[in-house]
Amino acid sequence: MKSTGAGARESPVITIRNAAATAKITVHRLRGNLSVLEGSGGNITVLTGRDGKVLVDAGISRPPVEHALASLGDDPAKHVINSHWHFDHTDGNEWLHSIGAEITAHENTRKHLSVTTRVEDWNFTFPPAPTGGLPTNVISADETLHLNGATLALNCYCPAHTDSDIAVEFQEANVIDVADTFWNGYYPFIDCSTGGSIDGMIRAAEANVANADDETIIIPGHGPIGNKSQLIDFRDMLVAIREKIADLKKQGNSLEEAVAAKPTADYDQKWGGFVIDGDFFTRLVYAGV
Ligand SMILES: [Zn+2]
Repeated sequence: MKSTGAGARESPVITIRNAAATAKITVHRLRGNLSVLEGSGGNITVLTGRDGKVLVDAGISRPPVEHALASLGDDPAKHVINSHWHFDHTDGNEWLHSIGAEITAHENTRKHLSVTTRVEDWNFTFPPAPTGGLPTNVISADETLHLNGATLALNCYCPAHTDSDIAVEFQEANVIDVADTFWNGYYPFIDCSTGGSIDGMIRAAEANVANADDETIIIPGHGPIGNKSQLIDFRDMLVAIREKIADLKKQGNSLEEAVAAKPTADYDQKWGGFVIDGDFFTRLVYAGV
């Protein structure tokens, strides 16, 4: 599925939500009682243990996620941490809350989910989330949780993919869920409507690289489970394309002229194979330089 930007085709939100209803979830077992569920919107990290399951992000549709969670044991889901406000990470909040999970998120996640929010680049207007889907434990600065014998560092990013991004670092296991500040192998979406920008994405990528060592498992928002060298590739791609598009803009090229110049051409085969193609990514970057 590709989009060329605002209003060009059916909103990708509708396409992605429809696909999630019948998605097949792949369960990846990591270390330290950690697993990743891949297939319902953004990746979902799950920590199991006596305090109940802890989820980083909630996915989209209940049945496939519920089934995958059951395969990880009988502990009920007790905690959900939203990495940011986007639907493919928060649509599942309501059902998870209904079975007893507390929802933790950045205060801006609660803010965006509480009101009608237009995302022009998705051609979609989100109504306020149902009350049960709203985070009840909001943070505005870094915080540490102790659950299931693990130390979870919740680190707030400066605005990057949105203005509500947080990373969750499982310190003993050396696993970091960096969510949508990293799309492993793909151009990322950047949500300019709620504070995202290419420069914020680059800052977040730098922070992610600095926070990882060669043994760190990096869980991206989308794409396969990754490592530090893939994070570096992603950061380098962001920096290179930002420079090309900033030059085009500085030379006086309009948005359409910049897109027509194909500044991402050398990168499209490697990075353009998912939701965001080269033209769409050029538009997202152009808005921020
Ligand atoms: Zn997102």
